[in-house]
Amino acid sequence: MSFRILEQTLLFDANRIFVDGDRPLLVDAGTGFKVEDAIAELKDLLDGRDLERIVLTHRHFDHVGGAKRIADEFSSELLMAPADAEVLRQGDSEATLGTDFGGRIEPMEVTDLAEGELLSTGGHELRVIYSPGHSAGSICLYEDSSATLVSGDTVFVGGIGRYDMPSASRDDLEGSLRKLSALEVNALYPGHGPEAKSGGGKHIINGLRMLEGYL
Ligand SMILES: [Zn+2]
Repeated sequence: MSFRILEQTLLFDANRIFVDGDRPLLVDAGTGFKVEDAIAELKDLLDGRDLERIVLTHRHFDHVGGAKRIADEFSSELLMAPADAEVLRQGDSEATLGTDFGGRIEPMEVTDLAEGELLSTGGHELRVIYSPGHSAGSICLYEDSSATLVSGDTVFVGGIGRYDMPSASRDDLEGSLRKLSALEVNALYPGHGPEAKSGGGKHIINGLRMLEGYL
């Protein structure tokens, strides 16, 4: 069983993270600019299993641009927090930053994820943690047993998410980082850049210090 960051096709693409199990799931879909490559890679990894669910950490195009195409291919359900789901349902290319990336968002069906909801892959148990700040509907996924955090654009290895875009909030981001800092975090799988295999919690603490101006 594993968490695995799939190969990036474009530098600014978000990480797509494959969470293995009998019922594997994908976290984030990338821009979709090279979506056929992504689909081929997923078919290899799935090896005959279904991809029932794709979890989207937040509304931004570099994470959701490929979501509809991948979901259509695998008959997957798209899941995200309601505060960001609405702009995907509307196909809002402005609010998702699609226009900034030179792409478009088509309206799509999205199922709301609740705070604390558990997602099981048969190999991993992931709990939904709302972490607004980078966007209103940003989420993280946390596995208690392995102390693994999938953090979207809330916190990176060596940084934190921007909070100067539509629906972002510095105060909310600070609150979210405080909330995450209460967790034991060993492995950290962020929305961009490399993962930390251990000691992930220090990136949350450092992120808080950055926000408070100490770093
Ligand atoms: Zn983002």
